Amino acid sequence: MPQRIGVLALQGDFAKHQAMLRLLRIETVLVKKPKDLPGCEGLIIPGGESTTLTKLIQKCNMYDPIREFTEKHPIMGTCAGAIMVASRVDDQRIEPLQLIDISVTRNAYGRQIDSFVTHVDVPFLKGSERFKAVFIRAPEIRNVGSQVVVLMELNGNPIMVQERNVLALTFHPELTSDPRIHEYFIEHFFTAQALL
Ligand code: GLN
Repeated sequence: MPQRIGVLALQGDFAKHQAMLRLLRIETVLVKKPKDLPGCEGLIIPGGESTTLTKLIQKCNMYDPIREFTEKHPIMGTCAGAIMVASRVDDQRIEPLQLIDISVTRNAYGRQIDSFVTHVDVPFLKGSERFKAVFIRAPEIRNVGSQVVVLMELNGNPIMVQERNVLALTFHPELTSDPRIHEYFIEHFFTAQALL
């Protein structure tokens, strides 16, 4: 189990991830500069606005430090964070980190219903109750590479995917009181085997 996880705190709902990690008794570091990364055992990129996140990651010179960090450490991206860790994004203004072989389409659920809550099966947590998934102007994962494992789906579309030490979710597990997805990240991504 990790002791200390960083939460990228340039923009978005990083405080909610911090609260969830605290609940699980994990120390958190709000990462705002490259020098905040050493000492973290993993990183979370929260939801927010991926155009703004792109500008701020550029401005703070964080692209290379985050890429180097994820060569050895786990990373989870939620909503805008999933857009940032993707390989391909349908919007030229986004510079994705290209950490997981998926294509994403921003704001894919249309304007009228750009926010909704739905209960989704969590087959990777066998026998568990469904998870209350909160979608806020969510992206859609359109193509997944052959090494990518689909952990959760909604209407046949992937909404939670993993490749090696990278986890990407199009919804907001930090906006519920259900810690199971953060717990899964903490329990399964920090083993020596997961980082091979
Ligand atoms: N629509 C936002 C984007 O494209 C993501 C929204 C969110 O993170 N809740 O960046």
